[in-house]
Amino acid sequence: MPSDYPRDLLGYGPTPPQADWPGGARLALSLVLNYEEGGENTVLHGDSGSEQFLADIGPAHIEPLVGARAYNTESMFEYGSRAGFWRIHRLLTSRRIPLTVYGVGMALERNPEAAKAMAAAGWEVASHAYRWINYAGMPEAEEREQMQRAIEAVRSTVGERPVGWYCGRVSMNTRRLVVEEGGFLYDSDSYADDLPYWNHEHGRAHLILPYSLDNNDLRFSTNGIFTAEDFFDYIRDAFDLLYAESAETPKMMSVGLHCRLAGRPGRIGGLARFLDHVAAHGDVWITLRRDIARHWIAEHPPENGR
Ligand SMILES: [Zn+2]
Repeated sequence: MPSDYPRDLLGYGPTPPQADWPGGARLALSLVLNYEEGGENTVLHGDSGSEQFLADIGPAHIEPLVGARAYNTESMFEYGSRAGFWRIHRLLTSRRIPLTVYGVGMALERNPEAAKAMAAAGWEVASHAYRWINYAGMPEAEEREQMQRAIEAVRSTVGERPVGWYCGRVSMNTRRLVVEEGGFLYDSDSYADDLPYWNHEHGRAHLILPYSLDNNDLRFSTNGIFTAEDFFDYIRDAFDLLYAESAETPKMMSVGLHCRLAGRPGRIGGLARFLDHVAAHGDVWITLRRDIARHWIAEHPPENGR
């Protein structure tokens, strides 16, 4: 049905496609580690004030200091790159769990050793833009230039260009710029489904791998959850429900993590318990987002899918 309304409120509706994940897996599980620390707002980076979001002092949004450094907020972010990253790295590499990093370009440039460890672990590093800021309202030419810097930052620190994109706080232009750039297999600036889908808004079919802000440790910073057990409870419930539904129509699940949040000692146990829970199910495809994208492109090309 032709329409000049650009949103898709219908999606797959009551008849989602059979994902046919490799090996007959029931559920595709993507763990995502947001690597952001060192790319956030601070006057040190030329920003007007200090960071407002996802510091370890709830609620999620705090008043910025304008024109001044917020040393406490800065240090909460530094915990992520100094300690939290390595704690999560130890947990996942010891269990050989594949992971996709959403890497903020400036943050990777400030910690080359972490970027090297991501590459050595075989993790995928997708781009999380050049800065961890709100891109809404940024002039198009400036955002386009930042996208190139973001790509180059991953290439120079990790060793290969990113094929996935997640901005987070997007502008009106972000998705079109991703499509025009041409080198991305997918973007994840959507929370609209439990399966990948094709977007046709910008000329050619463009693959979307929806992400999740509810299966996400950012809830720790909103005071929405407090203990490791709360985190485990929530993402286990999501997993169990999707796993049950996947008996008929296989689904995809994303879990979002942050070095400075889940990387805290009182919280990482929730992730470990979740991995134990998943490991008790044999038919889960724990994988990289780029591999989910490649599967979808090969098996569900846009002429067959929606
Ligand atoms: Zn993020």
